[in-house]
Amino acid sequence: MELPFAESWRIKMVEPIRKSTRAEREQWIREAHYNVFQLPAEQVYIDCLTDSGTGAMSDRQWGAMMTGDESYAGARSFFRMRGTIERLTGLSHVIPTHQGRAAENVLFSALVREGDIIPGNSHFDTTKGHIESRRAFAVDCTIDEARDTQLEHPFKGCVDPDKLEKVLAVNADKVPFIIVTITNNTAGGQPVSMRNLREVRALADKYGKRVIFDSARFAENAYFIKTREEGYADKSIKEIVREMFDLADGMTMSAKKDAIVNMGGFIATRHADWFEAAKAYCIPFEGYLTYGGMNGRDMEALAVGLDENTEFDNLRTRIHQVEYLAKRLDEFGIPYQRPAGGHAIFIDASKVLTNVPKEEFPAQALTVELYKEAGVRGCEIGYILADRDPVTRENRFGGLDLLRLAIARRTYTDNHMDVIAVALKNVFDRREEIRHGYRITWEAELMRHFTVRLEPVAD
Ligand SMILES: *Cc1c(COP(=O)(O)O)cnc(C)c1O
Repeated sequence: MELPFAESWRIKMVEPIRKSTRAEREQWIREAHYNVFQLPAEQVYIDCLTDSGTGAMSDRQWGAMMTGDESYAGARSFFRMRGTIERLTGLSHVIPTHQGRAAENVLFSALVREGDIIPGNSHFDTTKGHIESRRAFAVDCTIDEARDTQLEHPFKGCVDPDKLEKVLAVNADKVPFIIVTITNNTAGGQPVSMRNLREVRALADKYGKRVIFDSARFAENAYFIKTREEGYADKSIKEIVREMFDLADGMTMSAKKDAIVNMGGFIATRHADWFEAAKAYCIPFEGYLTYGGMNGRDMEALAVGLDENTEFDNLRTRIHQVEYLAKRLDEFGIPYQRPAGGHAIFIDASKVLTNVPKEEFPAQALTVELYKEAGVRGCEIGYILADRDPVTRENRFGGLDLLRLAIARRTYTDNHMDVIAVALKNVFDRREEIRHGYRITWEAELMRHFTVRLEPVAD
């Protein structure tokens, strides 16, 4: 008999978590104005708000922290981190930053000008924010398949080469670079194939443009290339990672994702001109060039995390868990963005709470129901997150309305996945009775989802 699959680690330190009662949760979520961001974390049993900075570090990472060099300039820990990044990606110029959006802020300050156009695949919120705040435009060239949650596609995060070429053919002079997000977070943690990365590179070369990878989940992307793309089954993750980055001119990185640290990020590039230009912004925004917002010990942990998480067994354990949750949802017939993504499951709320009008935010209603059911905290990636149109101030109902369940790395067990799945099933079973969602009582002008206040709509 073939041995079953099991995790590639064992547990050395645990953190107690507490179950609560439904009555407690109903009171807590009311006090939080039906916004899960406003809940104290102790009121949450299983936290699927985000996979960012929430992973469990390994004994090697904790050990490396003790060796951190906290010198202001020229710390040994910086050189160790830079060495690891260069060995993995081939990109030799490295600027540390305190997290991913800081890497965007520093690099884009050097590269993005008013009126510029930056094409890519579903720019992440902060990426888009750093483009639009400079009065430039992010043009989403993701393949159309990504918009149909029930369609199976092995690389649903890809750039559509025709859409990209249209942008380049008309506006090449306004494009400072192309940005490819791997994996494509906004489309559901969906990967980009090596073939697609090559197509983007070829178009960039044709129009004389450079390519940046927004690399938060590059290792998970490499895992999908190995397991889904023809010709890669026998290559190691590290070989695939190197082949991916050979197609890039630079990268921005949120190390809180695939480097499995609680805080950290960096820029890396092969071009001295980009490095020189970005350096000037690192010092005022982040700090001196060899620490840029990080402690020496954090750079040590980051280096070890990158090395560990570009090993197949670690990635297989992680993605197996996300797929396990997806399989449980399949048993119950609960619709989500298919196939399961690398870091999260995105439940299609518009297909679950069909009686809740879109004006009452179905994905938010589902998020609150799941919390009340079992103390599981997901996150609305839908109409509230979409904010209002900057010109008409109308709500934007054009996109998908999803409940994201992000899975922290090496943090929960498959038993926790069972609790999440059954809690969702219980909500799913009474979906017909849920006829109303929420109305907004207070909201911020931008990024309203973090602080929005809501109240239930009554019959
Ligand atoms: C998280 C993330 C960022 C921003 O990184 P932070 O560390 O949260 O600042 C940028 N791009 C993608 C794709 C991300 O997932």
